[in-house]
Amino acid sequence: TAPPVIELVDPATGEPWDQIPVMDPAAVEAAISGAAAAFDSWSTTTVEARLDPLRRLATLLRDEVDEHALLISREMGKPIAEARGEVLKCALACDYYAENAEQFLAPALVETNAKRSWVGYEPIGLVLAIMPWNFPYWQVLRFAVPALTAGNGGLLKHAANVTGSALAIEGLFRRAGYPEGLLTTLVIDDHALVPPVIADPRVAAVTLTGSERAGAAVAAAAGTALKKTVLELGGSDPFIILADADLDAVVPFAVQSRFVNAGQSCLCAKRLIVEDAIYDEVLERIVPLVAALRVGNPLDPSTQIGPLAKEAFVDDIERQVSTTLSEGARLLVGGERMDQAGNYYAPTVLGDVTREMTAFREETFGPVLPVVRARDAVHAVELANDTAYGLAASIWTSDVDRGIALGQQIRSGALFVNSVPASDARMPFGGIKNSGYGRELSREGLLEFTNVRTNWIA
Ligand code: NAP
Repeated sequence: TAPPVIELVDPATGEPWDQIPVMDPAAVEAAISGAAAAFDSWSTTTVEARLDPLRRLATLLRDEVDEHALLISREMGKPIAEARGEVLKCALACDYYAENAEQFLAPALVETNAKRSWVGYEPIGLVLAIMPWNFPYWQVLRFAVPALTAGNGGLLKHAANVTGSALAIEGLFRRAGYPEGLLTTLVIDDHALVPPVIADPRVAAVTLTGSERAGAAVAAAAGTALKKTVLELGGSDPFIILADADLDAVVPFAVQSRFVNAGQSCLCAKRLIVEDAIYDEVLERIVPLVAALRVGNPLDPSTQIGPLAKEAFVDDIERQVSTTLSEGARLLVGGERMDQAGNYYAPTVLGDVTREMTAFREETFGPVLPVVRARDAVHAVELANDTAYGLAASIWTSDVDRGIALGQQIRSGALFVNSVPASDARMPFGGIKNSGYGRELSREGLLEFTNVRTNWIA
């Protein structure tokens, strides 16, 4: 029998376009021991020495942006212009840690009754990263750049449908001059092979970005093995428009915030909550903008909405939309699978969505904007909090102080006032409630995978 392979399927056509052999247990073992050996030498280097390959990585990402963007678009269907932006954002994260890591990881002197005492930030070992397909480069780099800069090694178990990206990223790190094997891809698509990797004594910790189902399974295995986890899970971010907001400014941002990456983004306006006084006007303005979104081939630079990454995601969205309509929501535009090859779903706006309805209760991971009417600002905050998730919240108003005060009543890992939720290497990123725990990016993200070590010298 032929060795098992991961088949890459073009989401824009449904056609298979490449096959990548999966690793057998012996190959997984070789990958782990290679990474462990690379970690042994890397962990003893100075932070300064670790910045040379980091700077070369930034240069490679910029020099090769077109090639990597093309791979992203082909594998998961992201419009090429957005894919370029994703690769360049990765280069910015490299710049940020190249500039700040030495300061972030410098020993912190503490006055005690010891002669000398300080807190050190030391490497912890190999970190297993289980990553999703929606930002196939950014998700990996935002883990790997700080983790490796802190002196750790990485084992990457990427989503199967972006295995080409996983191998390309591994190649980038190698060519940038990181030790061979320090960031290694485990090409496995059988989830049963993951718990033994987590339990392996050479693996120190696990980070996962993905669904709650995957997060719970991986955290359970990590709990059994007493390994630390960072989880970045789903979200259903509220995007609140108060009656005094500047509608000319906010409406295009609301559309952008929901429809970026065809709605397959964790930080995203998944519930548009609009104050009663402007509700009808917001709908009138939003619907034509959504109807005008250019849906098409992700390789066409003018495309705004590409296909969903997997065929099954179209089924999920179709079920959520039809159920929400049967529960009483109003279809304002879209609402159907598109009659063409590939995983295309028409950009959709659902009006009069209420808190009991499916599109409010469940995370929608596709081009669907549910719009909810709030009686007033207090009701808007109450609706915003009526969710199992807590990733980000966005609130739009001409009274910034009031926006901050209301926003502080919303339980989430991030608050944006008059701004579209987005991650930024300079700020921590992560959620509360079912959106997960732990932080990525910024100094906080860097320190998640360090041994915060007490040094007490009498
Ligand atoms: P998913 O099924 O959870 O997949 C994510 C990763 O986990 C993939 O590498 C997947 O591998 C792996 N995986 C799934 N189940 C596993 C298990 N039992 N054991 C080990 N690994 C497992 O996620 P998805 O549904 O494709 O992605 C969308 C979800 O991710 C949404 O809920 C979204 O909100 C969330 N997300 C969150 C963030 C954030 O930062 N908070 C960012 C992006 C996405 P395979 O591909 O081999 O199945």
